[in-house]
Amino acid sequence: MSELHRKGVAELARSLAAREVSAVEAARHFLARATAHQALGAFVAVDADVTLAQARAADAKLAAGGAPALTGVPVAHKDIFVTTDFPTTAGSRILAGYRSPFDATVVRKLAEAGAVTLGKLSCDEFAMGSANENVAVPAVGFDAATPVRNPWDATRIPGGSSGGSAAAVAAGLAPAATGTDTGGSIRQPASFCGVTGIKPTYGRASRYGMVAFASSLDQAGPIARSAEDCALLLSAMCGPDLDRDSTSIDRPVEDFSRHLGESLDGLRIGVPKEFLGDGVAPGVRAAIDAALAEYEKLGAKRVAITLPRTELSIPVYYILAAAEASSNLSRFDGVKFGHRAKQYKDLADMYAKTREEGFGDEVKRRIMIGTYVLSHGYYDAYYLQAQKVRRMIADDFQQAFKDCDVIAGPAAPTVAWKLGEHGDDPVADYLADIFTLPGSLAGLPGMSLPVGFGEANMPVGLQLIGNYFGEAKLLNAAHRFQQATDWHQKMPEGF
Ligand code: GLN
Repeated sequence: MSELHRKGVAELARSLAAREVSAVEAARHFLARATAHQALGAFVAVDADVTLAQARAADAKLAAGGAPALTGVPVAHKDIFVTTDFPTTAGSRILAGYRSPFDATVVRKLAEAGAVTLGKLSCDEFAMGSANENVAVPAVGFDAATPVRNPWDATRIPGGSSGGSAAAVAAGLAPAATGTDTGGSIRQPASFCGVTGIKPTYGRASRYGMVAFASSLDQAGPIARSAEDCALLLSAMCGPDLDRDSTSIDRPVEDFSRHLGESLDGLRIGVPKEFLGDGVAPGVRAAIDAALAEYEKLGAKRVAITLPRTELSIPVYYILAAAEASSNLSRFDGVKFGHRAKQYKDLADMYAKTREEGFGDEVKRRIMIGTYVLSHGYYDAYYLQAQKVRRMIADDFQQAFKDCDVIAGPAAPTVAWKLGEHGDDPVADYLADIFTLPGSLAGLPGMSLPVGFGEANMPVGLQLIGNYFGEAKLLNAAHRFQQATDWHQKMPEGF
């Protein structure tokens, strides 16, 4: 029992199906760990009654036989997915106390696959951030300390914006978690916490019930220990949702595990020269080089490629994401959701005060930038120009995929930095997103898997980017690496 949190999703699902462990035992085990390690700050809401009721229902299904693949497997959700059974804040004061009348499609689909919800996980406010430091709400259910700490070093950030998700999995507080990735928020925290995470092709996972940040970029995906686990989870999370999400792709549900175990012989791994330039920390570069050498041992071929507009992805992303955010966040006006200012003169004043009190600094910054770049007179110079460069960035990838099957490089230029290290300098956070933003802008699937340790003995993640709909092949590339190495099995001390 005490080792339950060392099992991955696949192994846990097998133990549950074989009735070696019950769903209630598993749920209790992880709930106890969430409470014991609440100083980590990963969970923002737990409710043992809700979780145990779901676990009892899972046990009944397991007893009856023929239960779906994830029956009884505990999963925790990033607090950006709306849930009926738990509050949803998206890390914002403006949604404090908010309870959704429906479940996000991803949440519903995981529940239909049998998963038991452990609770909600901390994230940056409206998923805007790279360090999980932009959190404004206190936790419900216990007084977790914010911000989230990195389980490998409590003085460091877990990455963001799915920082709670990555920290919870790394610390063994949940076998798996959901995350969302707009510009890197699954891959970067997975990298910083030494776990595996994947963002699928844009449109694969429904955005219905994911609190919207930048709708043309937002995608859901899992964070777990291994690629095998991610494949299981992603298969349950994805699929068309055409009536509810206008950008949902009309392709049948896929089994993302179907290529697991295939040989990597002849796989061409493209390494963009821009991804291993001067800005990359030596310890990160060494771990990435060692991983690429391991891939060559597995039969893959390393190919030099170029993604010449990599640097431009930062201004392009921070213009477009802010523009979309400024529009999406206009719905938070004190009328329909969450917080409303207590004192105001008239309707306009109510809107202004509600938003002044409800939004944190980073969110306000993005609303102002977004409003500016969309305004008459600046639209052509910024927004339209950024859209054009976005298209060129996507074209660069198609050019690169003529010479390779998968693109590889670091998920981030450094290891996780110290809490507070970037201080009041949001641009320092933005620059750290350089390697995840290009794939996001192109809508490509991308993942991060742990491949060693760099500076200060902190985890380093290898990012793999595939072409559209290449998730199953990508997951196999990660899986083969994980069969040959044990970086993904390492756990931080004290957990
Ligand atoms: N760090 C990026 C941002 O702050 C990406 C966030 C995300 O992917 N949600 O916008």
